[in-house]
Parts: sequence; C-alpha cells; structure tokens
Amino acid sequence: MNLPAPTSTRVIADLKELAALTSTPAGAQRVAWTPVWREARAWFAKKVKAELGLDVRTDPAGNVWTTLEGGSAQSVIVGSHLDCVPNGGWLDGCLGVVAGLEVLRRHAAGGKPPVTLHLVDWADEEGARFGRSLAGSAAAAGALDPQKELAHLVDRQGVKLPDALKEHGVELSRMGEAKPWLEAADGRAYLELHIEQGPVLESLKKPVGVVLGTVGVERHTLRFVGQASHSGATPMPLRKDAFLAAAEFALACRDIGHRFSGRTPRTRVVATCGMVKVEPCIVTAVNGVCDISLDLRALDAKVLAKMLAAAKKASQVAAKRNQAKVAWSSLLRISPRPFDEGLLELCRQSVKEITGQAPELPSGPLHDASELAAVMPTVMVFAQSSPGISHCKEEDTPLPHLDKSIRAFLRLAEKTVQRLAAA
Ligand SMILES: [Zn+2]
Repeated sequence: MNLPAPTSTRVIADLKELAALTSTPAGAQRVAWTPVWREARAWFAKKVKAELGLDVRTDPAGNVWTTLEGGSAQSVIVGSHLDCVPNGGWLDGCLGVVAGLEVLRRHAAGGKPPVTLHLVDWADEEGARFGRSLAGSAAAAGALDPQKELAHLVDRQGVKLPDALKEHGVELSRMGEAKPWLEAADGRAYLELHIEQGPVLESLKKPVGVVLGTVGVERHTLRFVGQASHSGATPMPLRKDAFLAAAEFALACRDIGHRFSGRTPRTRVVATCGMVKVEPCIVTAVNGVCDISLDLRALDAKVLAKMLAAAKKASQVAAKRNQAKVAWSSLLRISPRPFDEGLLELCRQSVKEITGQAPELPSGPLHDASELAAVMPTVMVFAQSSPGISHCKEEDTPLPHLDKSIRAFLRLAEKTVQRLAAA
C-alpha cells in the first residue's frame, strides 16, 4: 500500500461547496427527510461517481453506503452524517462524511486496498425534524425499535414520520433490515471525524483531540414530601421540611461529583441538580413538597452506577433528617460508550504525528459512533470548535486546525487498514 501524502485541500473545498449549495444566510439547512438534505445527498453521490467511479447504495434505514472493495471482505468503516439541525453550521456531521470520501479517494489512488473500505452517511443523526436522533445508525446497530420509537412521531407541520420516510424510499417496517446489512459489511473498525461542539480543545489551545468515548447519563427527578405548615407556628424540631431535605441532597450530590472525579479527562465526572421546585412556595410556610432533578455523567459505567447508588443513599439520609419521604423517577438513561483501546492507541499516534500532541477527552454529546461502539471497535477524532459552540451558523473550526484534524483522521484510517491487513 503506497498512499499519497495526506492532505486536506479537497476536503475543505468540498465542505465549502456543500455549504454554498445547502445554506441560507441563517445557516446550513440539511435537515433529514427534507428536500435540502436530499440535494446534499445527491451532490455527494455525484461526487462519489465522478471521483471514484462508484455507485452509492442505500440500506433499508436510509443510510447511504459507498464501498471501495479491497483484497479482503473484512472492512474498515468510516462515516458520519450529512444531515444537520435547522440553521446549523458548516461542519457538524458533513466533516466526517467528506473526510471519509477523502479516505476512499486516497486509498483508491494507492491501488486496490488490502481490506475493504465502507463510507456511510448515516440517516437522521440529529433527529431535528421528528425528535429521535441517531435513527439510521441505531437501526443498523440493532438498537432501534422503529414501531415503538418512530411510528407515532409527527413534525411541527403535522407530517407523520412514516410518511416522510416513504417520500425518501424508506419503509418504517423494514428499517430493522439495516442490521443484517451492517453485519454483512464485516466491519472490524469504525472511525469518525467530528467537530468537538464544545469548548474543551479551544481552552487547551489544541487543534485536534482523541475521543475516549461518549459519556453515560443518569437523569432523574426526585420528589421529597414532608408537610407544609406555618412558619411561625411550627417549632424547628417538629418540621417536615421537604425543601431542606432536597437542599441537603443537592449538597451531597456536589460532594459525589467531587468524590468520584479523577484528575484525568477519562475519570472526570459531573453531578448536577439543575432544577428545583417547591410547594407551597410562600415566605411564611415550611415547604411540604420539593421536586429536584439530578443529572449524573461519567465515562465508566461502574463509576456511574456507584454515583447513582451514592445519590440514592444520600436522598434517604436527607429525607430522614428532615422527617420527609423521597421518591425517584427516571428521566433518561444512556450507557457510557468507551472506545476501543487498540484504536485509541492508533488514534493517539496519528494525532501526535500531525500535531505533536494527543490530548484526550470524552464526548458529552452522542454521535453515530456511540451506536457503532456497541457492535464493533470504534474511535473518534475531534476537531477543535472555535468558538466552542455548534448547532448554529457561528459553528467553526479555524482552517489550520481543520487541516490538521483531517490529516490526522486520514493517517488514522491508513493505520487501521494496515493493522487489519496485518492481522
Ligand atoms: Zn453531528
């Protein structure tokens, strides 16, 4: 395998072309299951045909596949998503797809690759129109129940999701068939380049980062119930103050956040009580009811479970001390998806080669890679976001940083192909 030097020139030119084609002054408009998205995908298919002589194929969940056949059917899969939120940025999602195209172009230029390369544009990563994100990648990973999760969804105009799918050639009842499709691709590694979407790399002044995985989330609401009573008439020892119980719980959660946090990005955890509501909420009353939220995040599933157990215990202690009762209800539970150690090592090498350093960070947001990580070795590269925001037209990565992230990703793909070929 003798590949040309990795360069970002074509990728950045393609990204600019796509932005010009699919943006208004308010930002990018490639919302999944809409005409602009279809246009973006048509642009992409035309590019694949013109530059690789290949046809794209669409799986039963609407994911678009480009395959560069290699000496072995075992494959390396690269991908991300062309769709974006309304008034989105020029990089979220499409950076990974267009950089993936460069991976294929570069390997095609080196002759037949030793293993097969698949590039996938996952359908509806954002869930912007109907609310269910990661639909295409979750279907392929076998983590989506279309009947239960999608059949009832309706957009703001009252259009039903199954009808919108049909317009794009996707049958809701057949989306599950994307799973055997992915299995047939025999992927041994999944690689994704994405912008960070947050301020971490910018604050570290690093252009490119190695992503350790996507963090898990435990989100709950708690209701403390005591007894509402008159502030003047109720002596302190006789109070059943639901607010004080919740307040003690919130302080205990702050301690949990500190206690379970390590010093490295991998072991950093957070605990947040973001919402609190009291009843009756009168200056002259002891509060009888207090609702409080809890959001715990960690990359390690065991740590996340321990944090949750500690929070449950703290809620009991706080309730008891204030003669109240507490009940929990779960809002959201996402498993942590740590990425593959072997691929992380290749990723560190690649990022270091291009930028001199390999800072590591977990991803707060979910990505298509979160779904793929459940079924095959996976890793991601982050390009710095500057300013550290996304899902808006201000989303950006300075060109020198963008260049480095693309070249690091190209090296990662090359190393992964080599490792698989040698295995
Ligand atoms: Zn994205």
